[in-house]
Amino acid sequence: MNQTSTIAQKLPVMEMFYSIQGEGFHSGKPAIFVRLGGCDVGCHWCDVKESWNEKDHPYLSISEIIDEISQYPSKTIIVTGGEPLMYSLDDLTFELKQKGYQLHLETSGVYTMSGQWDWITFSPKKFKKPDQSIFAVASELKAIVVNKSDFKFAESFVNSLNDDCIQYLQPEWSKSEQMTAVIVEYIKAHPEWNISLQTHKYLNIP
Ligand code: SF4
Repeated sequence: MNQTSTIAQKLPVMEMFYSIQGEGFHSGKPAIFVRLGGCDVGCHWCDVKESWNEKDHPYLSISEIIDEISQYPSKTIIVTGGEPLMYSLDDLTFELKQKGYQLHLETSGVYTMSGQWDWITFSPKKFKKPDQSIFAVASELKAIVVNKSDFKFAESFVNSLNDDCIQYLQPEWSKSEQMTAVIVEYIKAHPEWNISLQTHKYLNIP
């Protein structure tokens, strides 16, 4: 890794903001979110469809990204999207690690893994198959539940996961009124699963 490659890479950044991680194992933790533009997975219920076209977002250098996020007191960064693994994240994570950040990734896993991470959230989607590289490194599996058929979809990944991966079922927000009680009953019968809620949406924060 050298300075030239760092300066050369630019990434489409939809937004950067400071908030609270609402979901999964690190729910409740303050963190800086870096949302990269670009996603070709096509979930019909996606709540960030504005992210899909990478060309809609400004391309920022890694130095510009670091300048922006250094205004916040947290040392935890969550790189999300969009689908952030559409780009090699080796240079970005190398530079952020040098600055002492804890790095979390949120991905559908459909592209080859890149970057160095302290926590990886793997959220598989029915619309595109995950790449095999995600299974050995995923810290948590977060399966979104829109209807009961999603339990079977979530279970289809369990045998491929590494032993340390924590399993979550999370109601899709627009279906949470109907599906949360169903998920609770499923988890009581299948205690290897945990529930994840989008607490930031209940808190009305980004
Ligand atoms: Fe939206 Fe994520 Fe699905 Fe892409 S993978 S369409 S960003 S929910």
